[in-house]
Amino acid sequence: MSESVLIENGSIIDGSGAEPFPGSVLIKDGSIAEIRRDDSAVKPLNAGVRRIDATGQTVMPGLIDAHCHLSFDDAGSNAEIFHQRRNALSALVAAYNAKKLLRAGVTGFLDPDSTFENMLDLRDAIEAGVAEGPRMACGAYALITGVGGTAGRLIADEGITGYYKVVDSKDDIVREVRRQVKVGVDWIKVHVTGIVPRQAARGEVCVWTEDELKLLCDTAHDLGTPVMGHCRGADATRMAAETGFDLIFHATAMDDAALQAVIDRRIPIAPALTLQANIVDYGERIGTSSELIDLFAREITDSIETMTAAHKAGVPLLCGSESGFSLVPYGDWHWKEMEVFVKYFGMSELEAIRCATAEGARALRMENRVGQLAPGYEADIICVKGRVDRDISLLGDPANITSVMIAGQEQDLSPLPPRKPIPGWRLAAMGSMLTREVALRGAPDTPLNVEELH
Ligand SMILES: [Zn+2]
Repeated sequence: MSESVLIENGSIIDGSGAEPFPGSVLIKDGSIAEIRRDDSAVKPLNAGVRRIDATGQTVMPGLIDAHCHLSFDDAGSNAEIFHQRRNALSALVAAYNAKKLLRAGVTGFLDPDSTFENMLDLRDAIEAGVAEGPRMACGAYALITGVGGTAGRLIADEGITGYYKVVDSKDDIVREVRRQVKVGVDWIKVHVTGIVPRQAARGEVCVWTEDELKLLCDTAHDLGTPVMGHCRGADATRMAAETGFDLIFHATAMDDAALQAVIDRRIPIAPALTLQANIVDYGERIGTSSELIDLFAREITDSIETMTAAHKAGVPLLCGSESGFSLVPYGDWHWKEMEVFVKYFGMSELEAIRCATAEGARALRMENRVGQLAPGYEADIICVKGRVDRDISLLGDPANITSVMIAGQEQDLSPLPPRKPIPGWRLAAMGSMLTREVALRGAPDTPLNVEELH
């Protein structure tokens, strides 16, 4: 039996959206036994209860990131993920990066798709206690059709490329869904939309028929496995909702029909706009062209009306960071989707925190078990200096995070040893284009091409 712990004198955010209150949390055997308000009658504690003093701190559920690719290792491009990576090494590197998530207060995350589907192995290693990291729920390879995903011709016509797998017939769909269930996925990941380079002006197009999506969802559901989809565009989002998807990523450019389909079924959405928000906020500093910054800004502002309406109608919005790419490195931005929700979708800080905690539990398939501070819940708890309900960005500085517990077990937050380069791991760049004009002008000119990411 593990020890009992009392976290006292903190300001408690329980994750339900309720106002914070001064109080304490009693943990027994890895679960939350009791929440005490400071003004309630003080009950005597058994001897041997360890106390943690959280004076001046927020005590809240650990963050749940609904969209984090831990096998990608902060890649700068899909080409790097597809061609530079090795199976065992990428799993080992992911185990290192998992510790960065812990230090950022992340106690659970959904890994939608991974190279070599090796995040299933990391998940099992963490569960078995042979690696340190947050709770994980996993997809395996993202399913696409022969039209491709978001990397155009970089994706082979058939078979596996990086984190993608092509399924080009109904038999293929059924076979692959069954295989993924066999190897232990928590979710089936589908790229419902992709980019056809020659038709890029149309935006992402739906690469499936309605029949195929229905077959895919039915096959997965019959085997007790939910389905999540990358959807950009109204028709794809509507079709995903109508054919039975259980979680939708992005859901950009919804029209009335798509919005209604999502609302009717209360399908959770993880907009995962942190990457775009980072480009809007800091793109100039990393040399992103102004056209691209405008494009990303529009992607956020175009979603304001629909996401606000979806939220008001009771659709759960989940916080996903899209970490795994160099624009959203591990450990730094898992909190930022909450800021996006507050800044653009008109949520209160406490509503946004609910999205990253209580609602996030859906991504882990652990609803009513994690994501809230309430009796009977697993003790996935973080302590953060200051009042997070007044300033969410406090979560961005690991120095503010004083304690991270998963099932009542305190996680190691000591600084990670610095990492050295791995030969052949990154896509080598010789620098940006050296035109005569650049040479004579002498100014740095490093436009960033991110249109093929995620
Ligand atoms: Zn993604």
